[in-house]
Order: sequence, then C-alpha cells, then structure tokens
Amino acid sequence: MASRYDIVVVGAGIMGVASAYHLQKNNPGKRILVVERYGAAAQGNTGRSNALFRNTFTSSDNQVLANASIDFFQHLQETGVDVGLQKFGYLWMMDGDQLSRSGGFLKRMEANGVETRQYSKDELKRLLPGMVTDFGADEEAELMSLRPVEGAIFGPKCGALDPDKLVRFYAEEFVKGGGSFAYNTDVESLVVGPSKRLGIEGEPFAWQDYEIEGISIRGRPGVLQAETVVVAGGAWTNELLEPVGFEAHVKAKKRQLFSVQPTGPKLRSLVHAEGFSEMGVVPMVILPTAGAYFRPVRDEECLWVGCEDEVNRAFIDRPDHDIESYLPEKGYYERGILPIVASYFPEFREAVVKAMWAGLYAYNTIDNIPFAFRKRNLIVVGGDSGSGIMKGDSLGRVVDALYRDEEETSLHGGTRYRTSKLGFDRRDVEREEWVI
Ligand SMILES: Cc1cc2nc3c(=O)[nH]c(=O)nc-3n(C[C@H](O)[C@H](O)[C@H](O)COP(=O)(O)OP(=O)(O)OC[C@H]3O[C@@H](n4cnc5c(N)ncnc54)[C@H](O)[C@@H]3O)c2cc1C
Repeated sequence: MASRYDIVVVGAGIMGVASAYHLQKNNPGKRILVVERYGAAAQGNTGRSNALFRNTFTSSDNQVLANASIDFFQHLQETGVDVGLQKFGYLWMMDGDQLSRSGGFLKRMEANGVETRQYSKDELKRLLPGMVTDFGADEEAELMSLRPVEGAIFGPKCGALDPDKLVRFYAEEFVKGGGSFAYNTDVESLVVGPSKRLGIEGEPFAWQDYEIEGISIRGRPGVLQAETVVVAGGAWTNELLEPVGFEAHVKAKKRQLFSVQPTGPKLRSLVHAEGFSEMGVVPMVILPTAGAYFRPVRDEECLWVGCEDEVNRAFIDRPDHDIESYLPEKGYYERGILPIVASYFPEFREAVVKAMWAGLYAYNTIDNIPFAFRKRNLIVVGGDSGSGIMKGDSLGRVVDALYRDEEETSLHGGTRYRTSKLGFDRRDVEREEWVI
C-alpha cells in the first residue's frame, strides 16, 4: 500500500467495486485503492443478499437505475461473463386495494419502458393450483389480517444473479486496469484537514477551508492520503460520516433469509411451476400480507423465504463490525413468516429449514431511494434500502460522474441521468413504496 492515492474507496461490496470499476475505466492513470475491513470482497451484505433484481418499482428513479443495471448484467451474461443471471420474474400478489393503488405506479413503469403483465385471480389459480386466494370467514385468517388475492402484477425482466460472480467481475477488471485492494484493513475514521495547511496545532479552524485529507487505518500510524475519498460502507456508513459532521440518513436493520427444502411432492411441484417464464420455475412471489415472499433456487431445488420486517424490528444506528454477530432466528420463521406463507400455499407445511442467515439492510429512511452525493472531495454512495445489487452498475456510474463533476451520467444503454437527483441538496426523487 502506498501512502497517497488519487482515490480511496472504502468498502468492497457491490457499491464499492462497481464505483471503483467505473472510476478506473473513465479516469485512466489515476491511482485507486479499495479498502475493505473483511478478508475479501462481497463479505458484507452483498454476499448475504437474495441477489434478486427487478425493475418493478413505484418510483421512476429506482425503475431507471435498476433497468439500466439489469441491461448491463444481461449484456455481461450474453458476452461470456457468467454472473449467474436467471430471469424467472417477480409476481406481486395483491388484494383489491393494493391493485387499485398500483395503477399510477404502472403508468410510471410504462413511461419508463418497464414491461409488466397483469394476472387475474382465475389465471393465478390455474397456474398455481394449490394457492388459497380467499379466506372467507376464517377466524384465524381474520386474526392474522390476511388479505385475499385479487390479482397480480408480473415483472418479466426480473430474477436473480450470483452476487459473488458479479463482484468478481468488477474487482478483476478493476485490478486489470491498474487498481488495487487492501483487505483486512479497517478504516477508523475520515481525516479532515485544512485545504491550505498553515502548520498551526488544531487545524482546521472554523475560519479555514477544509477537505478530507485521507483516512486513518486501525493499527497503522499516520494518515493514508487521498485526493478523493469515496465512502461505500453500506450499513456501516454512519460511523465514518457522523464524527466529521456529514449525514447520510442511513439506518441499518437486520434482515433474514430461510432456505427451505421441500419434503413432499406438492411443494416440489410449486418450485417447478410452469407458465411464467422460460425457466419453468415459480417466480419470486410477494404475498399481499406483511411483504412475505419466497423465491426459487432452481439448482438446489429449494425456496428462500423472508418477509419485509416492518413489525417491531429495531433500526440500528451503528452496527457491530462483525456481521456474523447478527444471527437468524428460526422462531421468527416458524411463528412469524411460515403461518402467512402456508396460509396462501398450504404446501409450505412440507418445508423444512435447511439453512438460514442474516444480514443488514441499509435503509435511507427519508424515501427508500439510494443516495450518491459529493461534498468537497468526499463522495458517498449507499442507502439502497435493500435493493442495491440490482442498481449497482448505475450507481457506480453516478459516482464516477460525481468525481468528474459532471451533471449527468450515461447509464448502460445510453439513458442520461442527472447526478444531483440522488444528492440531498437538490434531491429529486419520488418515495419508493415497494420495499421488501
Ligand atoms: C437478507 C438480505 C437480502 C437482500 N436481498 C437483496 C436482493 O434480493 N437484491 C438486491 O439488490 N439487494 C438485496 N439486499 C441488499 C444488498 O445486499 C445491498 O443493497 C448491497 O449489498 C449493498 O451493497 P454495499 O456495497 O453498499 O454494502 P456491503 O455489501 O455491506 O459492503 C459494504 C462494505 O464496506 C465495508 N466497510 C464498511 N465500513 C468500513 C470501514 N470503516 N473500513 C473498511 N471497510 C468498511 C464492509 O466491510 C462491507 O464489506 C439484501 C440484503 C440482505 C441483508
């Protein structure tokens, strides 16, 4: 590791590596270092995620950012870079109220070129014969506030990818272009210094112009100097920004996934539900109650199950550095999620939990849309609110444009995107309503 770089990126999750890749590509000759606390890239939340992608969002910005990133991922897959892309679609099951509220969102999707299909209740019953759509006067269903299924919105350009493979692509290309990584390297703080050093103890003073001089690394004396610092620290962003007076409006929350294995034929045939995509698997299904969902994992013949975690789940301002300390709770699945999923799909009673894990969402609590902003020579990206992998490529391009002080960036496919939209000074986004 040298003692000075043009750009230091903190964090080797999807945001850090996609940013590093685009910075390296568009600013050849710059010395760029990515610094990461863990021993490899994608060991934070990127590698713990569901790695689903969708362009079906309620806000225009999420639609556009995700759509272009998905196109890039597809371009990689089609040109021989295997990122494990699988398009099985997203199926949002809704009750009447949810369907009527989605009308405006669908118009926005159409305007942004996001393809959707609608399924009636009868079509859904034909394609998913085991599904319960109405609960009648069922006392338990009433107690659980289960919403009936009146129809569904399907996003065909949605699915999942392999986050490790995607991160490996960005990281390898970045290194080929001359960039470097420092793993097992814990950034203790951002170091603020005067823009013009006078050599007086205590600088910078209130009257001095200042900038980020670099970073201080735990266990290493001195300051690693950088012309520009990019913070892509995910759920851990606050601990770097807040001590030096910057705000990112990030709150972390533990989120869990449960991998369930079918033990009987009914659940097995649900995994292989035909009629939605060429893959011949059930899509990612989001139920009308509590954002409970499941997705297929075709190669393992299993389903991953989760829910939106709205009820009584804590926000965390300064998460523990050890991601492994966030443990999954089997009781949460058994008593919270399974009763919902098995009410709509009784075949889930044939499921056994074979694996489970937890990670952290980094919520932007203002509007659930990612942010990317520049203050002096500091660039910050994050706040993806649980859907950052699917927007990773676009956000990496925004970071690069912010570095070059450009008002717009070109997303994959040529869509122009105004970089100030994702900042806090001139933020210009609609609140995202479909967060799961
Ligand atoms: C259970 C779960 C399911 C999810 N499902 C999806 C999904 O289906 N689709 C989707 O798009 N997204 C999903 N997400 C969200 C997704 O994981 C995030 O949007 C994405 O990983 C964010 O990337 P990141 O680079 O900002 O954060 P991270 O991947 O967490 O990377 C941040 C990195 O910064 C490093 N770091 C932080 N502070 C420091 C420091 N001081 N010094 C050194 N290194 C530091 C961390 O060690 C970490 O590696 C899910 C998340 C979870 C937890």
